[in-house]
Amino acid sequence: MTTLIEPEQTGFTAVTDQPYTYVRRELSEPDWRRYPGWATVTESEWRDPQWQRAHSIKNIGQLRAVVGDLLDERFYADLAADQQQQATMSMLLPPQMLNTMAPHCAPERRRLTEAFYADPIRRYMLPVLSDREPEWGSHPYAERDSLHESDMWVVEGLTHRYPTKVLAEMLSTCPQYCGHCTRMDLIGNSTPTISKTRLTLQPADRQDRMLDYLRATPTVRDVVVSGGDVANVSWPRLESFLTQLLEIDTIRDIRLATKALAALPQHWLQEKVLDGVSRVAHLAAARHVNLALHTHINHVQSVTPLVAAATRALLDAGLRDVRNQGVLMRGVNASADDLLDLCFALQGEANILPYYFYMCDMIPNAEHWRTPLWQAQQLQLSIMGYLPGFATPRIVCDVPYVGKRWVHQVVRYDRNLGISYWTKNYRTGLDGSDAEALKRVYPFYDPIDSLLAAGQAWWRENSHLPCDAALSVGYDSLTLAPDGGTVPDPYGAAAGADGEEDPASTSGRPSVILPSTSAATAPSGPFRNGHGPTETCVRRQQFDIHAEPVSHRPSGLGHQQHAVRDDAGQ
Ligand code: SF4
Repeated sequence: MTTLIEPEQTGFTAVTDQPYTYVRRELSEPDWRRYPGWATVTESEWRDPQWQRAHSIKNIGQLRAVVGDLLDERFYADLAADQQQQATMSMLLPPQMLNTMAPHCAPERRRLTEAFYADPIRRYMLPVLSDREPEWGSHPYAERDSLHESDMWVVEGLTHRYPTKVLAEMLSTCPQYCGHCTRMDLIGNSTPTISKTRLTLQPADRQDRMLDYLRATPTVRDVVVSGGDVANVSWPRLESFLTQLLEIDTIRDIRLATKALAALPQHWLQEKVLDGVSRVAHLAAARHVNLALHTHINHVQSVTPLVAAATRALLDAGLRDVRNQGVLMRGVNASADDLLDLCFALQGEANILPYYFYMCDMIPNAEHWRTPLWQAQQLQLSIMGYLPGFATPRIVCDVPYVGKRWVHQVVRYDRNLGISYWTKNYRTGLDGSDAEALKRVYPFYDPIDSLLAAGQAWWRENSHLPCDAALSVGYDSLTLAPDGGTVPDPYGAAAGADGEEDPASTSGRPSVILPSTSAATAPSGPFRNGHGPTETCVRRQQFDIHAEPVSHRPSGLGHQQHAVRDDAGQ
């Protein structure tokens, strides 16, 4: 129902009953002194980046020293079990980031434990075993380097995936480690379950080779300078690299990637860093190059006055823009309210442009965070119309061997098995001059626990097979949703912005399925990084969109049985 109100004094009317109600909220810095271990920490210590780095939490003992018995033993045991059995990232939490967990909870033992369990920042920065999906903790086709970034290295650390853009991984560390890190293959310390890949070149040599490649490749105009996190590159080294980049006149966009803007804003508030940013920004402006900073903030709780202050200081130093690329995750931000609260805080209070939300990538042990595509599509629709158009983030799926696609750009979607199909309009570094690369469709997968029982049963039966073989198995014996895709909504995220369930979620969601034109083909090839049950991967998942379909699927599924083609040598 729409409500028109007429304030007595103004005589104006406004529609107030909306799925989401915007209310401007002031940012606040949670009081760190609520924790016993920080009870005597002064404001000047808190603002000191060296103090923050020196007191970052790296293990349970250090967490205990801060929080003490305000957290139940069961929480510490749950955390220890996860680190031993599931964690793909080691623990590293600057105090600033820990302080944004359960920010308004009274420091009482039982209440804090429950607040920690429910907290969105805790859920991705400090995962515990009971968070994980018990049966389908990893998708059978999860991969350590799920985007194949290192497969596309043209020199060590330089990924050339898109025609005009490259990613420069300057180093493999960050001031904070996120549980869902898509570069978990490379970034951070090894964990009991994951031995990390290591960069082999000296940093100076690696950077020289990157610059040599860019000088020799004038079709590249855009460089994402990342890692890891550029906050861990010493400023003189980073400034030297950026200055040399700016000497290449074909480079027109440079983006610095740092989650530390939110996790360690103290770093970006240092005078020596801001002076350096100012020098580089003025050089960029003089050469008409767009120099921006991209950060990674997933929840409104992370947007504090210090984060806003650091952002404004960077803009004042001359950066053209500061933009946010968050990750869409169940239990963290997968509701319209969460996304809009975050975007309004970013755009309205911190001068950070909401830019993207990525669907969480298919890395091992990430299924409890990942959202199915239909949920991402509904969320995209739910957040339209509230923010300025230029500040309305796109929700994107980063499809292996393809790249980022807006979630509504899917070309076919099998809701029963949770498989979406995508195309691309350019060749990646892996395609070479392959004439067929642009004719294939490439699959992506919903988390299996989000499927109906029949879909889960199919995966239970076939998940041991490599992708191409699994997709060749018929599922005629299963009882399937009549429309090819009615999946119940156990997460509330298919709901409208006000939290009420979208009628489509109970009556059969509109499936995003285009006419089925393809038969699947996929080579069976060597598995990169495939060393164990949590590291299973499929080398190539490509399907020829023009091949003849082999049709023995149950009718009405909007899906065709797949034929297999051998592309292993590609
Ligand atoms: S900051 Fe980025 S690169 Fe570093 S751990 Fe988090 S997601 Fe990975």
